[in-house]
Amino acid sequence: MSDTSKEPVAAKEEQMKEMDEIEPLRVGDKGMVLVTWREGENSKLEATVVERRPSDFWERRNKKRKVQKKPSTETTTSKPKLLGLKASESDVEGLKASEIDYYVHYTDHDRRLDEWISLSKFDLATIQRAEIKEKDSEAPSTGSTDGDEKEDAKKPVTRRTRQANVNTGGEFRIGGGNWHGSSNAGGDPTLAALEREHEEATKVKNIEKIYMGPWEVEAWYYSPYPEEYSYEEKLFVCEFCLKYCKRKQNYLKHKQECSWRSPPGQEIYREGTPTCNLCVYEIDGKDHRVYCQNLCLLAKLFLDHKNLYYDVDPFNFYVITETDENGAHIVGYFSKEKQSAEDYNLACILTFPQFQKCGYGKFIISLSYELSKREGKPGSPEKPLSDLGKISYRSYWTHVLLTLLDEQKPEDNIQIKELCELTGIKAEDIISTLQSLDMIKVWKGQHVVYVRQDIISDFKKQKKRIRLCNSKYLSWIPHAQRKKIGASQK
Ligand SMILES: [Zn+2]
Repeated sequence: MSDTSKEPVAAKEEQMKEMDEIEPLRVGDKGMVLVTWREGENSKLEATVVERRPSDFWERRNKKRKVQKKPSTETTTSKPKLLGLKASESDVEGLKASEIDYYVHYTDHDRRLDEWISLSKFDLATIQRAEIKEKDSEAPSTGSTDGDEKEDAKKPVTRRTRQANVNTGGEFRIGGGNWHGSSNAGGDPTLAALEREHEEATKVKNIEKIYMGPWEVEAWYYSPYPEEYSYEEKLFVCEFCLKYCKRKQNYLKHKQECSWRSPPGQEIYREGTPTCNLCVYEIDGKDHRVYCQNLCLLAKLFLDHKNLYYDVDPFNFYVITETDENGAHIVGYFSKEKQSAEDYNLACILTFPQFQKCGYGKFIISLSYELSKREGKPGSPEKPLSDLGKISYRSYWTHVLLTLLDEQKPEDNIQIKELCELTGIKAEDIISTLQSLDMIKVWKGQHVVYVRQDIISDFKKQKKRIRLCNSKYLSWIPHAQRKKIGASQK
């Protein structure tokens, strides 16, 4: 935020007065907000209010929690419930506009930027009020038909629809399984409806920050942590076993007691770097269910996938660590389906934010292709890719293909099929990358690589050093071969 202390006092007073008089913003209202990027630049972005809560929400919440924790004089056998801990519309009733925090989404920006802001961040002159439908608030809830639900989806979100959708969101948590909304929904109205509900239920981040090893990291998205851990300002996560705690004392106690110093599973990669070792562990979701579920919950804080994370059995997980004398510190991971009918060689990929821009993304991608090469089966990442995923993959494919084409002699006349074998990249991704480089032609119905030396020499001039997986440090045999070896030894 800009430094307001330099503003004349009179202007500030004027603004305070205006803020006191303004009607509280409602869900659906829009306005311009001054945003300061990490690099220090400012921009004004249009923001839409998604949710509201009192500015002193956490103090109120903690007070409420203390009251609920007090032993009751009545004898009751039911477990004490921590209900009403999530912000609710009734909490803001009667409050002034400036006493409310607003959860906003910035138009045309990824949901990771969504955040809680105070009224003072809005340019009050730009506020546009959403239409209020009087009838909606007066009409008693009579239970809805399918037709009503469709209608609801288009309306500005009200408290009532939010609550209903949150409840349905809970149902499919229990359902489990992996579910990819937008790509697979196709024309299926049930899937499309589930996707809408998911969008709705995950609209507001439920955990604001995590503490992990020495890092304090802001969460980007909603993650379906169990209810008693949901809606926390902070969550403490053990960087070795990935157990999570709400309270710092419990976390510190856990840290003393926890004997883990690395992920479970098999170490399959170790490369010495000047500062530490870069290691990779292969973990079978079926053998280490709790760890893998914890990993998925943690990763979900930074991924906007619609996957659900309780059925980890069909996946192998590859966890990348920086290993020093204190242990193997998790940097990122990718997951891979054990059997993929679509030749997917990667399901989810994440470098934790504290390690982003260190080149780990390309390393993880290259590792996934190294496994595909060993399997003798070109693969492709599962779609849809996130915005950051798309950028990483496009840049990786371009790098690998141009490096390879540079090594070819013009008379080699390399075919797409050979490129697939050499890189582990699936033909469709090679074709789309070469198309974007204008290095492919269609000849008699076939795609033909057309090497452009000007593009290659430009690429070589600006060639950045990127960290890729080095095959000689990878000790890994494809699972299909392991089975064969196992069977022949019997
Ligand atoms: Zn631990």
